[in-house]
Amino acid sequence: MEEAGDVVFRLNQPGQVLFASKRAVTLIASPHDLHGDLLAAHVAAADQPALKAALAEVLQSLAPSVVEVRLKTPEHEVWFELRVSCFLNQLQVPEMLVVGRDMSVQHATEERLRHMATHDGLTELPNRLLLSDRIRMVIANARRSGQGFAVATVGLDGFKKVNDGLGHPVGDAVLRMAAARLRKTLRDSDTLARVGGDEFVAVLPGTSTEAQIKLVTGRLIATLQSPFEVDSHTIYVGASVGVSVYPNHAEDEVRLVALADAAMTRAKETGKARCVVYSPKHSGPPEHDISLEAAMFQAVREGEFLLYYQPIVDARTREIQGFETLMRWKHPTLGMVPPARFIPIAETNGLINLLGAWALKAATVQLKQFEEVCKRRLYISVNISPRQFRNDKFLDVLDDALAFSGLSGEQLVLEITEGTLMVDPIHAETILSKMALRKARIAIDDFGTGYSSLAYLKRFPISVLKIDRTFIRDLPGSQKDGAICNAVLDLAKHLDLSVVAEGVETEDQLHYLDDRGCQYIQGYLTGKPMPANVAMTALKESTYANLLPEELRQVHQ
Ligand code: C2E
Ligand code: MG
Ligand code: MG
Repeated sequence: MEEAGDVVFRLNQPGQVLFASKRAVTLIASPHDLHGDLLAAHVAAADQPALKAALAEVLQSLAPSVVEVRLKTPEHEVWFELRVSCFLNQLQVPEMLVVGRDMSVQHATEERLRHMATHDGLTELPNRLLLSDRIRMVIANARRSGQGFAVATVGLDGFKKVNDGLGHPVGDAVLRMAAARLRKTLRDSDTLARVGGDEFVAVLPGTSTEAQIKLVTGRLIATLQSPFEVDSHTIYVGASVGVSVYPNHAEDEVRLVALADAAMTRAKETGKARCVVYSPKHSGPPEHDISLEAAMFQAVREGEFLLYYQPIVDARTREIQGFETLMRWKHPTLGMVPPARFIPIAETNGLINLLGAWALKAATVQLKQFEEVCKRRLYISVNISPRQFRNDKFLDVLDDALAFSGLSGEQLVLEITEGTLMVDPIHAETILSKMALRKARIAIDDFGTGYSSLAYLKRFPISVLKIDRTFIRDLPGSQKDGAICNAVLDLAKHLDLSVVAEGVETEDQLHYLDDRGCQYIQGYLTGKPMPANVAMTALKESTYANLLPEELRQVHQ
């Protein structure tokens, strides 16, 4: 006990310290300090009731108990996890043993993670998720007090030119400086969030009259008008501001931001470096998008998103080789909302990063479970949206999923579209080479529908082509589609790529493709997208269907 890395105390029944290990002494105080009442002397006041209750419970039930408390050291308080147990000493009198593990690193990490989830990494300002919470709080207060407030969207004018002309590091520096300047013009009770590349949102409680709005937004615009000095460049960017007011224009957080956004667009269109207060003639985004978007934030909190799995099978044996992960939103009243409706919204408001990271992790973990069932190697295909692909954190997300699930990189296929690659080919090249280091494979989704150049097939490390459903649909009748499929298969053969045909619905289509050397099939014919438990059954059937009785016995053994 004396040498233990954890802190160890022996206490008598009233809680006096009879013994304290070396580590406890060095951490907390000089030895004579430690002979008093452990609770009163060394535990933070706020945590004393919890420890008291734990000690009482242990004495009563004789079963060990665990409690987290802050122990007071001369300089500060440190979080410890205390395990309390009870024993009888040589005189048959109950005593307690308290073993404490330092939790400060863990607590700091948790705190950091919480911060990261709710703040923008570049400027340290709140992100959209925290913004939406803050606005809801301000709405609740405004309802009680009856006083309105304003939401102001601030867009930097001409920021793209800075980024393109002087490079991202300079652009980042300007954003950080702009964030600091904007923050400085606001009161402590105001919230300033960064919600997009060059877009900020300020929530201004108590600001609702025209004069007040003019004053605050005037300051926001003015503070960005003076030049930014970065690395001997003198940079000018202005700001356009759009404002919406609660409750005059809207009463929920998503709509308030959307309308302020519409007003900002108007400010940009009408000369920039000015403020426009929302008016119905600026027409915001369509009504149903806004309500769907509001519901999406709610859905993330409530865990309404789930994953379906669609089998990808060998064209010849029809044995399942892997699954494509397809996201679903189980809305309490709308039912299943298809991804075509919610992915584009998530893509514009940034939620896709959160959803995508979750999907990647959940899918890799699920594949491990699938493999348990069929005792053979499978692969999992996950769709990656353009915004996820561009996100700096994407590789961390990928590493995290692989580490968490224990899946090896080769079993993961990331589906991206041609467009994703071509927006910023230089960036794409770096990211893809890093993915290749992790052995994850890249599939081009909806191949043939996006981009008319094939040069990228040579430039990027691509492994799989997924022929889009529109080329499969009219097979085998359509000569043109047949020609396209043949060309893709031929191309793939010579470039050593695998091909998956998407949207195969009939036996004729399957045979046509199989005859021409298409190895993998995905479509309603061989399996619709299905929940994990159904996929599990399909997998069992697929695994055993092609086995001879003798082999089957071996598998069962
Ligand atoms: P995709 O990646 O090309 O996925 C294939 C789509 O074709 C799926 O639609 C699937 O249900 C559908 N499909 C498969 N076989 C057949 C068939 O035989 N006949 C017909 N008519 N359709 C078939 P779904 O699930 O509605 O997904 C639509 C798109 O949404 C996906 O296209 C993908 O681009 C996107 N998506 C889905 N899940 C995610 C996700 O987790 N993240 C991202 N970023 N995008 C996703
Ligand atoms: Mg896909
Ligand atoms: Mg596709």
